Amino acid sequence: MIGVLALQGAFQRHFDCLEKIGVSAAFVKHPEDLKKCSGLIIPGGETTTHLKLLKDLFWQALLEFGKNKPIFGTCCGLILLSKEIVGQSVPTLKLMDLTTSRNAYGSQIDSFETAVDAQLDGQSVMIKGCFIRAPKIIKVGPAVKILAKHGQNPVIVQQGLHIGCSFHPEISMDTSLHNYFAKCCQQVDVNK
Ligand code: GLN
Repeated sequence: MIGVLALQGAFQRHFDCLEKIGVSAAFVKHPEDLKKCSGLIIPGGETTTHLKLLKDLFWQALLEFGKNKPIFGTCCGLILLSKEIVGQSVPTLKLMDLTTSRNAYGSQIDSFETAVDAQLDGQSVMIKGCFIRAPKIIKVGPAVKILAKHGQNPVIVQQGLHIGCSFHPEISMDTSLHNYFAKCCQQVDVNK
């Protein structure tokens, strides 16, 4: 069972993508919902709003979950996973050694859709991505693997259990990354 954090933002489409590939999915609205999940998707949305909603217990539960279970963060989810945000001293989960810059692809009106060439399991996969007030990944630590770039910038990254993505793959219902993430969750389950 893969959980989709469902407090705010684009959670429904992630749920639909998991259903489309036959993976059982559950909305995570309370910290105790994490108990039944083998992985978690943190969707795009608004970082500031997520930070307001993810108080104490929920924040601690996410940190605990991320120690040994995979998390896939898209857009705002990527920002929350990162170690630091350029020019802002707001708390983040710091589960990935990344520096992100919020809204660095421009405002809502600058949103765009593009094909991204990703390396997943040694295969080149074209993924349709929507960049909506998307964050740029400005710096990656040595433990971070870059799975895709857009121009010079990394846009899909992986570090250990966790995957981060600057754009929204779920809007176009492109399920390549959901498939990849589901496989990562399965591997962790098998190796336990
Ligand atoms: N701009 C948003 C933020 O910084 C993220 C946008 C998104 O998730 N599509 O929180």
